[in-house]
Amino acid sequence: MLKLESIIGLEVHLELNTKSKFFCNCPNQETDNPNLNICPICMGHPGVLPVLNKEVIIKALKLGLALDGEVAENCCFDRKNYFYPDLPKGYQISQYQLPLIKGGVVEFEDNSIERNVYPVKSCGAGSPTAKFNRVNLERIHLEEDTAKLFHQNESSLVDFNRAGVPLVEIVTNPEIKNAIHAKVFLEELQKIIRYLEISDADMEKGQLRCDANISIRPKGDKKLYPKTEIKNLNSFKAVERALSYEIIRQKELWDKGSPPKHQTTQGWDGRKTVEQRGKEEEKDYRYFPEPDLPPLDKNVFKEQGIDLEFLKKDLPELPIKKRERFIEEYGFGASEAGLLTETKKRAAYVEKVISELKAWLISLETVEGSEQEIWQNNRGKFIKLLLKWLINRLFVLEKNNQESGFKITPENFAEFIILMYEKKLADNLGQQVLEKMYVTEKDVDRVLKEYNFKTAEDKADLEEIIIKVIEDNPEIVEKIKNGKANVIKYLVGQVMKKTQGQAEPNTVQELLEKELK
Ligand code: ZN
Ligand code: MN
Repeated sequence: MLKLESIIGLEVHLELNTKSKFFCNCPNQETDNPNLNICPICMGHPGVLPVLNKEVIIKALKLGLALDGEVAENCCFDRKNYFYPDLPKGYQISQYQLPLIKGGVVEFEDNSIERNVYPVKSCGAGSPTAKFNRVNLERIHLEEDTAKLFHQNESSLVDFNRAGVPLVEIVTNPEIKNAIHAKVFLEELQKIIRYLEISDADMEKGQLRCDANISIRPKGDKKLYPKTEIKNLNSFKAVERALSYEIIRQKELWDKGSPPKHQTTQGWDGRKTVEQRGKEEEKDYRYFPEPDLPPLDKNVFKEQGIDLEFLKKDLPELPIKKRERFIEEYGFGASEAGLLTETKKRAAYVEKVISELKAWLISLETVEGSEQEIWQNNRGKFIKLLLKWLINRLFVLEKNNQESGFKITPENFAEFIILMYEKKLADNLGQQVLEKMYVTEKDVDRVLKEYNFKTAEDKADLEEIIIKVIEDNPEIVEKIKNGKANVIKYLVGQVMKKTQGQAEPNTVQELLEKELK
C-alpha cells in the first residue's frame, strides 16, 4: 500500500485587545447588548472615512517581532470583496499582497508537552513520539473582524458590535505534520500572545479562531494535492479531533484509489467534518488596494512615533526562554518549568518567592562562600519544598476555590517555606497553616499565634506531655516492654488527644520510643 503523509497549514485569527476598534472610536469591548458599540464608520455608511488606530499597528508589530518575522518595508491595505450579511460594507479591509509581517517562527520543546490527549496513536493520525520543535510562518497580516450572526427560528439577527474589531491573521507554512503538532503549535502561540498582553486569546470567546487546511500526499512527494479547509475550530480539542478525523477520512479515500479531486470547505460538528460549500478562489474576492487608507511604510511609522528598535527591546521574555531559564537557573525539571511559567503572572510570583528565599539564605551567618555558591549549594532543598508546597498544595487550594490570583503574597509564602525548611512545623500542621494563610490572607506569624499552632519550639511542651502519658499508662508500657510493640499506637493516640491533634504522629511515636528504651 502507498505510504501517505498529511500536510497541514493553519490560518489563525486573533482579536487584538485595543481600546477602540480598527478604524473608528467605538469601544473594542465585549458586551451583552447587541449593536451598542457601533457608528457610521464600522457600519460602512457611504461617505465615511476609516482612520487607522495606532495601537493596532503597535500590537501587531509586537507579535511580529516576538515571532522573529520581517517587518515589511512597504505594506498597504486591500479590500476583499464578498457579500455576506455580517459584512456591512460588502468588503473587508485586509492585507493581500503586502502583509505587515513576512515569515516568522514559533518554536517549542519536544519534551514539555503531554501528547496522549486523544487516541491519535490508535487512529493513525500521527506518531505521539515524533519530535516537533518549530512551525514556520508565511505571514502575519491585519484585517477587520466581521459582525456576528444569530440564527433564530425562521430569521437571522445581526450584531455589529464585532464589526471592525482589529484582527491579526497568522498564516503558517504547510508544514505541520499531524493533529498533535497543530495543537501544540497553537498552545504555544496562545502563550506567546498572552505574554505579550496583546489579547487574552481565549478560544471559547472567539478571540483566537483557527481554520485548518489539510491534504494528504504520497510520502516523498513534493507537490500539494487538493485540500480541505476546516473552518472555525474554536478549541484546542476541536483542532486536534477535527484534524485527526479528516486525516483518516482522506487517507481512506487515497487507499480506495479515489483521492479528493477538488478543494472543499468543511465544518466540524464535534464528531465529524461536514462539507459546506465549494470554496471561493482568490480571484473571486477581487482584491484591490484600499483607496481610503495610506500605505504603511517606515515613514508612516516614524510620523506616528512607532520605533521598531524600542518595541523589540521592550518585548517580554518569551515563554520558551523563561522555561529554559527556570530549568537552568533554579534547577526545575522540564514539566515543572512548563507549569510554573504557564502565565507570566505565575512565573513572576515564583521568581519573587525564590528571590526572598535566596536573600534569607544569604543573610544567614552559618553559611559561607559567595552568594552564588551559597545559592548553588542549597537551592536543591528549597526548590524541592517550593515545588511540594506550591504545586501540590497552593495550586490545589486555588483550583478548589476556583481562584486564579495569589491570595498569599510571595513574601508570606517564602516565610512559610522557610518555616518548613527549618523543620519548625510538621507536615500536617504545615498544610493547616497554609490553608489558614490562604483564607485569612495573614502572614505566618499571625496565623501561628492566632490559631495556636505548635511549632518545634513548643517541643519541650510535647516532651512533658509524653512523660505524663507514660506515667499515666503503666500497664500499656508493661505490654510494650513485653514485646507487644503495636500498642504504642495507643500512647500516640493519648498524646495526640492531649495536644488537640497538633503534634505530628510520627514525631510523637519516635519520641515515645526514645523515652521507653
Ligand atoms: Zn464604529
Ligand atoms: Mn482572514
